[in-house]
Amino acid sequence: MDRRTKALKAWFGLDSFRPWQREAIDALLDGDGRVLLVAPTGGGKSLCYQFPATQLEGITLVVSPLIALMEDQVCSLSSRGIDATYLASTLSSEVQKERLREVRNGTYKLVYLSPERLANSFTLDTLCTLPVSLMAIDEAHCIAQWGHDFRPDYLRIGTVLEQLAPKRVLACTATATPLVREEILKRLSLPGATTTTVLRGFARPNLHLSARELESKKERHHEMQRAIADFLGSPKAPKGGAIVYAGTRKLTEELASVLSASGYKSAAYHAGLDPTLRSRVNQEFKSGILDIVCATSAFGMGIDRSDIRAVIHVTAPGSIEEYYQEVGRAGRDGQPAHGLLITGSSDLGLRKRLIELGSDARRGEQQWGLFLDLLRYVEAGSCRHDFILRYFEDEQETLGGCGHCDICERLERSDLEEHSVEEVSRIARQALSAVARARGRAGLRAVADMLHGSSSKRLQERGLRDLSTYGLLAEYPVEWISRLLRRLVTAGWIDVRGDQFPVPFLSRKGIAVMKGEQPAKLVLPEHRSKRSSTTNNAKSSAPKFTLPPNAEPTFERLRQLRLELAKEKGVPPYIVCHDRTLAEMATVLPKTLAELATVKGMGPSRLEEFGDRFLGTLRAVQVEQNMQA
Ligand code: ADP
Ligand code: ZN
Repeated sequence: MDRRTKALKAWFGLDSFRPWQREAIDALLDGDGRVLLVAPTGGGKSLCYQFPATQLEGITLVVSPLIALMEDQVCSLSSRGIDATYLASTLSSEVQKERLREVRNGTYKLVYLSPERLANSFTLDTLCTLPVSLMAIDEAHCIAQWGHDFRPDYLRIGTVLEQLAPKRVLACTATATPLVREEILKRLSLPGATTTTVLRGFARPNLHLSARELESKKERHHEMQRAIADFLGSPKAPKGGAIVYAGTRKLTEELASVLSASGYKSAAYHAGLDPTLRSRVNQEFKSGILDIVCATSAFGMGIDRSDIRAVIHVTAPGSIEEYYQEVGRAGRDGQPAHGLLITGSSDLGLRKRLIELGSDARRGEQQWGLFLDLLRYVEAGSCRHDFILRYFEDEQETLGGCGHCDICERLERSDLEEHSVEEVSRIARQALSAVARARGRAGLRAVADMLHGSSSKRLQERGLRDLSTYGLLAEYPVEWISRLLRRLVTAGWIDVRGDQFPVPFLSRKGIAVMKGEQPAKLVLPEHRSKRSSTTNNAKSSAPKFTLPPNAEPTFERLRQLRLELAKEKGVPPYIVCHDRTLAEMATVLPKTLAELATVKGMGPSRLEEFGDRFLGTLRAVQVEQNMQA
């Protein structure tokens, strides 16, 4: 046990640091002394200033906007023999004066301050006389004017830091997109080069994430209902709670009544309800009287129900950060939970209007960018968990495929795809090597042109026609190749850099994938041109499997059964299973569940749900055929 772990045990009664706590604490105590720490609420950020406070000479100042929390922490620190106090305007001026006197006399190792105290010159003058060895800023995102929780008092912290010039500064927050993080560093004058950013703890492996693009409102509502039935089970004995997020107040009411009609105890929740009703809904959901709340994004700040089994969005939220916060309310108990995001083209218009209503042009542009990131998440071709972790730059926790999000599941059933795993790898590697060969001479579009083998003069001029990767993907349309390249970007294999002319480069991971050192786990964009699906339907809907002629009647019977099952469940038939799966069933004629399980596309959940019915039909067909023979 090293010295710091011993001290941790002695002061806090804890056995070990979490690895990222240690990273932050070491950087504060031994390194440059400038740390930005981003970790989820409840992750254990406060230890990262409390522990150094016990190890350093002088005092540690902590700015925090949450007075109840300061009170709690002061209490528990005192009980461990660590002298701490707090200053906030909620205290009488006598008490504050007394505490300040004690602070000046060196009574305390830790002093908590609410931000409005920084406006008080007497307090500030006193602080200036103190040996401040560490200043910690909790909820540091409150300093970001473009963040969701801006507090003007936080802007003073920059000046205060200049005056006090503490040797060490720690900024903590639970939520920060890359942009907000940048703003925190800027406003606290923390130099990017010498500030250690520690970003951890965002992985939520018990969440099953999926996303679907559905156009009509009816389809989206159907999908929501199907998902609720799937995730909660029967309304008579639901497995837990669910939240359905919708974009408008009206829609929340509509959905709540639909769900109530199907037997779930549900209510709507939005900012337009009167406060007593709102707090009642909140209370009843928390205590389990309500199963489902259909809400606008106004709902959730104070939700601490741990058995939420599903968070379903029928309208796209504004950003990945917002989405992850909302979906993160599911499965707090660590048990499996589902996050389903349903989007459609109409979300684009709705979001655009919301942005235009709420903000100036510059901010609007930024918000639009955040929304486009969310759409990229929806159309991602690689693991959803990894996508989000990469978005928050929490690389260490990426899983290389969680194995249970919809994309990972699709990759596992890659028989359902048009391309074999080997083909996907080959195509991805070809595209990556084209990016490598272009060496920053071409934007994404030009790389797509090059791969397609377009005969444009621009390619010629830039010497892109002479590359060995020219025309490598000639059989695919340029549009498709562009989508493929976007997916390689969202997979983190290609970086796009440059302000004026963004050009693609391979990331470290991209190089590894290109060289075949890492698997190319990716879902390719659908390869079907728009024209052929509308005008030449027969061709594009031709089955992608071969069926022996004698299996034909069995196949038809299985299709009938699938239709019945789909109707019973109120889902489209392909949700029950694909044609290809039925074809294989009709060919190999499985007799037991174990045999059926080997049919591609019959995963455990389908097997459990439909296995017996399929076997029953197969048996019946067999008997009939034997009698005819
Ligand atoms: P945050 O400030 O990130 O919201 P807290 O600092 O309040 O989180 O910590 C949440 C809980 O985690 C506390 O109960 C704390 O005792 C516990 N905790 C923190 N660090 C550790 C650790 N290294 N080992 C065990 N428990 C820890
Ligand atoms: Zn995954």
